Amino acid sequence: MSVPTTLVWFRQDLRTDDQPALQAAARSGRPLLGLYVWPNEGTLTARRRYFIWQSLRDLQARLAECGIPLHVREGNPVQAVAETAAHCRAAEVVCASDGAGQGALRAALEKQGCRLHSVADGLLQPPFQFIRAPYFNEPAFAAFQVAWQAACVEQYAAWQASAWPPPDLAAQQQRLPENLKTAVLPDVPRAVLTIPGGETAARRQLAEFLPRLPYYPVLRSLPAQNGSSQLSPHLVFGTLSVRQVWAVAGNSPDAAAWQEALARREFWRHYFRQYPDVLRQGLPEHRAAGQANQALLAAWQQGITGYPLADAAMRLLRDTGWLPHSLRRFCAAFFCRVLGGRWQDGAGWFARQLLDFEPAANSGNWQLAAGLGGKRVERQPFNPVVWSQKLDPDGQFIRRHLPQLAHLDSRRIHAPWLAAAEVNTNGYPAPVVDYRAR
Ligand SMILES: Cc1cc2nc3c(=O)[nH]c(=O)nc-3n(C[C@H](O)[C@H](O)[C@H](O)COP(=O)(O)OP(=O)(O)OC[C@H]3O[C@@H](n4cnc5c(N)ncnc54)[C@H](O)[C@@H]3O)c2cc1C
Repeated sequence: MSVPTTLVWFRQDLRTDDQPALQAAARSGRPLLGLYVWPNEGTLTARRRYFIWQSLRDLQARLAECGIPLHVREGNPVQAVAETAAHCRAAEVVCASDGAGQGALRAALEKQGCRLHSVADGLLQPPFQFIRAPYFNEPAFAAFQVAWQAACVEQYAAWQASAWPPPDLAAQQQRLPENLKTAVLPDVPRAVLTIPGGETAARRQLAEFLPRLPYYPVLRSLPAQNGSSQLSPHLVFGTLSVRQVWAVAGNSPDAAAWQEALARREFWRHYFRQYPDVLRQGLPEHRAAGQANQALLAAWQQGITGYPLADAAMRLLRDTGWLPHSLRRFCAAFFCRVLGGRWQDGAGWFARQLLDFEPAANSGNWQLAAGLGGKRVERQPFNPVVWSQKLDPDGQFIRRHLPQLAHLDSRRIHAPWLAAAEVNTNGYPAPVVDYRAR
């Protein structure tokens, strides 16, 4: 008779270290198998697919060292998990989940005598403890951060990840039936990635960033300097554990600004767990109907608005799937407040472009940039030329991404239309709208 197994369904936790699903499965005492099911949503772009593929390849190699095969399937996740569980005679499926939306899978597994075991992952604190008011403006974030950070400091002061692999795993895996021992990872088309996927790459990137932590508070606002960690895709796909990130950075006296960034990540996830409707529709008081101006939307998407910093940034996003935070905020505010666009249209474009797309962070930051996080619309005046001078003082970033303006000095490069009569701007477009008219 064949041996019952435990199936680990990897989702956005594509790693072996500090991996709660893997640890829980190993405690079952049964031989383990891994499964990944490709998402079939529209945001699975070629870049994201390749990043996941690189992460799966790394994960497969790490699991193979412990004798755990990683199977990869396409299609409906409930069906794929249930069929794989039946094929490998799984007595239990373990996965990271908040428990929501798992009724269909639980029922399908129960029919075949298999139990579904969900574990928490991806957050430093569980949701529903810290969010009070239905707003997400800066005062709401500040209140969240104080309470959330105090809880993290207490909980993670002496925290250490459980060791992997556990000592008795090798003996456990020897009982895995021969016909289940091998799994292949089909190739996917290559894509150019500026941030490579996989747990090994993530750890390397974290190690390279840590010595730069003291400069982070200043350099993160200067996009030409690449001063942030660029770890967001790894945190989204779980190739890095956020607990480990917190524990490692927490030992540094220079970690405060970076811990605030991690608090923002968690704020959005907590907020939208509590107020899910706001994720797609915004706060009830800001749900005005509107139409997208398709010509302005297209100019913004393709980086031909005539505003150099916005155009340079949007071309970088289109070509690489990456933008530093200060430019995401700038491009979002520019789209909503200069071009008069709807935040949903801008957020939809970011969702299709960003390598690190994550619904809560994307929707929340877009609404915030549009000034829609509180009871009233909260907007400081937004001058794209002044912001361009602040974020890219000597025009280095613009020159790198808009070669046709590379010869302009730092006085002219932020508003080339003012110099068009004196210097050749190589056909660079005039502004599609006058920002002073808004
Ligand atoms: C309009 C807009 C859309 C965005 N869309 C996304 C998105 O889809 N996915 C995403 O992960 N982030 C998003 N962000 C947040 C932020 O810009 C990115 O997380 C950050 O730029 C990633 O770079 P990093 O890893 O170098 O960050 P670091 O500055 O090194 O910060 C460390 C980590 O903290 C988290 N973080 C930092 N700032 C924020 C923030 N404001 N909100 C949420 N998390 C934060 C990220 O996980 C990041 O990796 C968006 C921001 C804006 C303004």
